Parts: sequence; structure tokens; C-alpha cells
Amino acid sequence: MISVKEATGLIAQHTARPRTAEVKLADALGRTLAADVASDVDSPPHDKAMVDGYAIVATDLAGDVTELAVVEEVTAGKVPTRGISSGQATRIMTGAPVPAGADAVVMVERTELVAAADETPTVRIEQPAIETGKNIMRRGTSLRRGEVVLSAGCRIGPKEIGLLAEVGRGDVPIFAPPTVAVLATGDELVPAGETPAAGQIRNSNSPMLAALATECGTTVNDLGIVRDDEDALRRAISRGLEADVLVLSGGVSAGVLDLVPEMLAELGVEQVFHKVRLKPGKPLWFGLCKGGDSRPCLVFGLPGNPVSSFVCFTLFVRPALASLAGIQSSDSAWQKATLTEPFQQRGDRPTYYPAVLRYVDGRAEVTPTAWKGSADLRGFAEGDCLVLFPAPERRFEPGELLDVLYLAR
Ligand code: AMP
Ligand code: MG
Repeated sequence: MISVKEATGLIAQHTARPRTAEVKLADALGRTLAADVASDVDSPPHDKAMVDGYAIVATDLAGDVTELAVVEEVTAGKVPTRGISSGQATRIMTGAPVPAGADAVVMVERTELVAAADETPTVRIEQPAIETGKNIMRRGTSLRRGEVVLSAGCRIGPKEIGLLAEVGRGDVPIFAPPTVAVLATGDELVPAGETPAAGQIRNSNSPMLAALATECGTTVNDLGIVRDDEDALRRAISRGLEADVLVLSGGVSAGVLDLVPEMLAELGVEQVFHKVRLKPGKPLWFGLCKGGDSRPCLVFGLPGNPVSSFVCFTLFVRPALASLAGIQSSDSAWQKATLTEPFQQRGDRPTYYPAVLRYVDGRAEVTPTAWKGSADLRGFAEGDCLVLFPAPERRFEPGELLDVLYLAR
């Protein structure tokens, strides 16, 4: 049986480079940028007024009140037709280009327009002095033409959408989201909306795995439930292999109806490994289906128990999906936390145990939940993280520092 580290290494080795695509700006939200984006403009594109008021020559203000001749009015979107010199002012609105010769803008609140019939209007400025450059944002202050403003690999959120618009990207290069097929196997399963008859349980894995895959920014095709029957499995798996990634649950253990590995082999899916040294999740199966010149479909056979399949998805499927989606994965989601209670670790496999993470005086503390094992989704849902108890079997004491993986909600 291989270790978690060996398994993640093998998966990474077989995961292809992300595909790129171009989408309209309005469709880029939540996607990952596939290329550096440089600006095609300076921003602001001109020296611009930051307030509504009067563009003036700063040295003209001396004394409590100064009266200047108003030579022009410039609103946003217009350009000044003339410059100003000492003794003159231009009425200017926020965002408009400052006329040549002006080096400050006085807020309109500090002024009074004196409109004289047949004469050039004047403005009285009630302000003894102003700094040079006041209320003017110089051209190119926030960015210069040609400058890279967003780098490949960045996630496109609302503020990136705004910036992409500002720098002229109506079409955006992104990494194409991988397609993921989800397939639950088991004669005992009924959909969530049905009442289970004797011997049956509801299919909690499909909705959960589809939700996990959706959170990774993928396009999910939920293929529903398939019976533990060779013909049904053959048909359903064949459909699933059309996706970039097929995530199966159940049927990979040692029961008489655990038919998934042999059916995958029959359909030409090459096994890379089966079984990993961890708890829960030991029966994990991984392989690839190389279909002609298209890139191979990654196939994950997750154990049927819901918590096992969640843990396996988190540790093994999620990094593969992130990499296929062009998201630079990191181990930063793991952190250290202090154990608050004694814990008896049993068996020879490292255990990923549901737990609650708390900060007490800025220190991370972790408390295992009252979890009843890999079928206990309820006990698992009471936690917000997984705490790793390394093998071998021993008693862990309060105060020990352990690795914790926070599970975002
Ligand atoms: P298996 O791996 O198929 O042997 O399943 C292991 C356990 O997980 C059995 O108790 C199954 O009933 C249960 N199980 C399998 N698939 C699902 C599912 N989709 N939702 C909930 N429980 C499941
Ligand atoms: Mg089964």
C-alpha cells in the first residue's frame, strides 16, 4: 500500500496542463487568468480634476479673497480648448482634464461665481493659499500603458473585472474549467428526494461530490446512481469517461459486488494505484483512460462511505482539479494547532479526523468531534477541519502540536 505523499505525487505526475480559452469579460467572473494582462492606456489618461471647482495658478492665491477671470467651463468627457495664465481660472468638473498652465484646483465650495452681463464672469476664491498639485491626479498615477496589471494564475473576482475593463480587455484569456463527471454506485442507493425502503439509504455522495467539484470551479455532470450490475456500470462509466475527470463512489472495496476496478480495466482504464495508507479512505483507486489524441481522463474511484469519499476528494481529487483549472495549488491550507484533549490513535494508518478549530488568545486549538467513523456524516459536519494524527498507534496528549486542514464552508 502506498503513502498519501506517494499517491498525491502519482496523481500530479499524470495530471495534464490546463487548457486555455477566451471568454467575454462578463463571463470571466470566478475564472483563472491564463496570461499576463498589460494596460493599453495610462490611468488616468490626463492630469485630471479630483473635485468640482476651478483650475487656477496656485501662486495667484495670496490674501483672503482673490478674484479671477473665468475663461472656460470643462465638464468630464470634454477637453479644454485654451490654457490659463495668472489671473485666470477654468470652471472644471471632477474627472475633466486640467487646462495647460493650471497647477491646482480649488473646490467649488470655497468659491463664488460673479456673473457679470456682457463681461467675462469672475470667480471669488475664499481661500488664502493652495499647494501646487492640490486636487489634481497626474496622468499615469495609477498605471502606465504597457504595465502588467494582472498576472497569469490570478483568480478573477469583481475588482479584477473592473480593472480588466479599465485596461481594455473585452475578451479575457482564461484557463478552461475542466469537466467532471460524478457517478455513485450501489444497489442500496436512492436519490435524496425519495424515502428509502428496507435495506436502502439515500445517495449523499453524489450531491456532496458535485458540490466539492463545483467549488473547485469545474463544470460538473452528475450522472446519478448506477446499480452494481456489469452492463449498467459499463454504460455509465463509458459516459463518465468523456469528461476530463471521472469521480466514482463506492464499489472499490473487497465486497462481492465491488465491481468498479474490473469494469474500469475492461473499459481500458489503466490503474495507477489502488489503496492508500490513510484512514478513512484506504480503498481509493486511481487510473487513467488514454483516449486517442485527446488528453487522458483521470479516474478516481472513491470509497462509498461519505466521509471517506469527502476526505479522499479533499486530499487527492481537489489538487488535480485545481491544477487542471490552472489554479496554483499550495499547502498553505494546512496549519499547526494545539490539541486540547487526549486522543487515542488506533491502527497503523495516519488518520484524518474531523475536528473543530478555534483561536484562543491568537493561538490555534483543535478539538476532535464525537465522530463515529467513515459513515458518520453528521459527526463530520460538526467539525470545520481535519486534524492529522500520524501513525503509528499511540496516545496523543493535550498540548501536542498537530497539522490541521481547515475546510472552508
Ligand atoms: P462500498 O464502497 O460500495 O462498499 O460502500 C461502502 C459503504 O458506503 C456502504 O455502507 C454503502 O452503503 C455506503 N455508500 C456507498 N455509496 C454511497 C453513497 N453514494 N451515499 C451514501 N452512502 C454510500
Ligand atoms: Mg457498494
